[in-house]
Amino acid sequence: MDPVVKPTGPEGEDGFDAALGTSWRSMTRREAIRYGATGLACAAGVSGLAWYLFRQARAEIALTGVFRSGGPSDKVWALWEQRGWVKEAAHYLKLGNNVQCKLCPNNCLLAPGDRSHCRNKVNRGGTLYTMAYANPCTFHVDPVEKKPLFHFHPGMMTFSLATSGCGFRCLNCQNWEISQKQPEETKDATGPPLRLRPPLPESLTLDDMRRMTMLPEDVVAVAEALRCPSIAYTYSEPTDYYEYVTDTARLAHAHSLKNIFVTCGFINEAPLRDLAAHLDAAHVDLKGFDDDAYRRLNSGHLQPILDTLVTLKEMDVWFEVINLVVPTYTDNLDTIKRMCDWLVSNIGPDHPLHFSRFHPAHKLEHLPPTPVDTLVDARDIARRAGLRYAYVGNVRGLPDAETTFCPNCHRAIVERDIFAVTRLDIADGKCKFCQTRIAGVWA
Ligand code: SF4
Repeated sequence: MDPVVKPTGPEGEDGFDAALGTSWRSMTRREAIRYGATGLACAAGVSGLAWYLFRQARAEIALTGVFRSGGPSDKVWALWEQRGWVKEAAHYLKLGNNVQCKLCPNNCLLAPGDRSHCRNKVNRGGTLYTMAYANPCTFHVDPVEKKPLFHFHPGMMTFSLATSGCGFRCLNCQNWEISQKQPEETKDATGPPLRLRPPLPESLTLDDMRRMTMLPEDVVAVAEALRCPSIAYTYSEPTDYYEYVTDTARLAHAHSLKNIFVTCGFINEAPLRDLAAHLDAAHVDLKGFDDDAYRRLNSGHLQPILDTLVTLKEMDVWFEVINLVVPTYTDNLDTIKRMCDWLVSNIGPDHPLHFSRFHPAHKLEHLPPTPVDTLVDARDIARRAGLRYAYVGNVRGLPDAETTFCPNCHRAIVERDIFAVTRLDIADGKCKFCQTRIAGVWA
């Protein structure tokens, strides 16, 4: 056995440690310098690593735009707690008094008093809470085609709701009035409380909406009262009100209602897998196929969205993909071809791809709408790549833009006009003309 080097005793002296059962020898001066230097180097390494991690964390905060000390006042917090509008977050790490959200790839690192990049989460005393719970700022009853989902229970009505907040900063966001707002900017906990559940009032004012509470059981009861067989989590980014979605979706399934997740797909795998167990369909916004464009247009990244598509496929959740073609950002046809090839290779030819026309909005009001020819070219590329169901959306008067053709006999089997289904030649999930199975969930 090699002698244990001990830092005491006369220099170079040998000996035997009865307790350890090992021989030892005192350190020479040269060894002391060498080991001291090594120790210092280790200490420097550790503190260097800590400094590196701190720099990384700070860089991450800078990148994700965490709002330092941006949390609510104690007074506001107390009111929100009374309304049931806060809940401990579902996926996060405690790091002393700091917390790190693990819900989406922004992985926000929050010190006490901070507010997250998506504006919905706050660190209160070392615990991460969501402020987007039971407090939707908007809801509607929509046909499922409006999501758009074309291969999922055609014509089904879906109770659709959203809270404020989003983990993206899309320059072209059409719902920025809610997605780029804090919950406190869309809800008001100071007026008389109002809980929305059946029997429903004949109308609601904007002031009612701002004060209104809808617990998960209320959402389910309201959907049932409105004869909606499904609930859609949509309009802003439902990943950012995940806790509300999860609790509501679980309850909705217990009541035999379906759950539809309309998402940008920017979510970490573990929370996605937990949620997917309660989902029946998803609509995923694949905003492009170029990471640089993702960063410039959406303040996001491409790879997490691709990972989401693969996970949904693995978990057998029906999904459709939408690609908004934004002039100068995501309208490169070579890139669109690469996207279509990736979809065919990685999720197969059966998930519909919707090319959607951009209209000037938010910070891109200076850009023109997408030329219709570009959208038609994109659809042709998708078909040539092997995708069986490719559509063009947001264009009025374009023949067959939203028609489903049987991939075998090529006859039109589903026709749509805006959000209405005007023809449905599918029975038992098969083309009525040639009996070929049509991908999707057909009731
Ligand atoms: S969900 Fe919100 S708080 Fe969590 S990591 Fe994403 S942006 Fe940050």
